[in-house]
Amino acid sequence: MIIAESGQLYQSIKLLGSGSFGSVYLVKELNSKQEYACKIISKAHIQKYDASSMIQNEINIHVSCNHKNIVRLYSYWEDCNNIYILLEYCSKGHLIDPKTPFNDDDVFQVFHQILDGVNYLHQNNIIHRDLKFENILIHEDGTLKLCDFGWAIKVDQMSVPNVMCGTTEYMPPEVVSKSSLDFKLDAWSLGVILYVLLYGKFPFQGDNQDQLIRNILYDQLIIPSRNDINEDLTNLIQALLIKNSQLRPSIEQIYLCKWMKLNMKSHNIFNHYENEQLKLKVKQKNITLKVVNNSLYSTPNKKMVNSNYVESKNDFDHKSTSFGKTHNSCRTIKSISINPSPQIRQIDKFFNFLENIQKF
Ligand code: ATP
Ligand code: MG
Repeated sequence: MIIAESGQLYQSIKLLGSGSFGSVYLVKELNSKQEYACKIISKAHIQKYDASSMIQNEINIHVSCNHKNIVRLYSYWEDCNNIYILLEYCSKGHLIDPKTPFNDDDVFQVFHQILDGVNYLHQNNIIHRDLKFENILIHEDGTLKLCDFGWAIKVDQMSVPNVMCGTTEYMPPEVVSKSSLDFKLDAWSLGVILYVLLYGKFPFQGDNQDQLIRNILYDQLIIPSRNDINEDLTNLIQALLIKNSQLRPSIEQIYLCKWMKLNMKSHNIFNHYENEQLKLKVKQKNITLKVVNNSLYSTPNKKMVNSNYVESKNDFDHKSTSFGKTHNSCRTIKSISINPSPQIRQIDKFFNFLENIQKF
């Protein structure tokens, strides 16, 4: 099949995948020999399901995105029969449930890329609403990229409509119960992805759709025991799969959890949110930075030492930061005046800082 668009000719090479609305083909532009993926959506299908505004929305949102962890949408056009969407080609297909459950480091290598893509979307007021293995593609160079913006929504002034959207296994309680929705919806799906990577099965299952929905709403989360998994990672999964969306961490809070911070540091990946938090602490707590023996370190003023802070070697100490130099910092909090509820206490394990607890 040859697809033509304003002077360019694309030869279809093979079918890459099919979804509920379209078929995606590998195509080659005949002049440049450049390969692309082309999603072809039949207009008859769109008409049958009254889906034209949904497709328009998918294109509008996707074309506005420009991030390394999001599949690039280069152009789109239509003819009498179809709508064509020309996409960056990801030759290694989509992420699949691992045959043998991942270890801690494998999980991080996958998760931080997905998180970067979702962070970009949330910063641009976009909720993906269908994060799942099939919608995470692998580029030739190994980079993971989010695709399929069919359920995505741009949250401007309007509230998010309460419709059942996405794929049930990945849906949070507020979606299956059609309650109010927000960005935390994607955080739940991230929890499901992490759970499947680690334990090779969905956290909530059911023999049929009704039972699955009941289990998502009421079943207690069970974390299978695996001695080789870092407790900080299981704390993160538990926090992401909290049924009350208000208690679930935001994307920013995921970057600030202990497991992410430690892994990002050990893989030399810049953590923007940790850096912002550190800068804020320096500003708010009047921590002065001094250069001693060519290294930068923070000194608490007397008032701080007398209040709740003590020196700690657990976290920021002697680690490289965006200041570009090594530094010490004070962070451990001796006394916490608030009395957290059991659910908050559960999340408490997941964070390092008092300010994170107070956010809840
Ligand atoms: P869904 O049923 O999830 O709504 P859909 O009709 O919206 O599906 P997509 O999810 O965009 O379609 O694509 C379907 C499948 O096609 C993907 O799971 C993937 O296997 C393949 N695919 C999509 N885009 C690309 C791409 N850019 N490169 C390689 N394969 C792709
Ligand atoms: Mg899809």
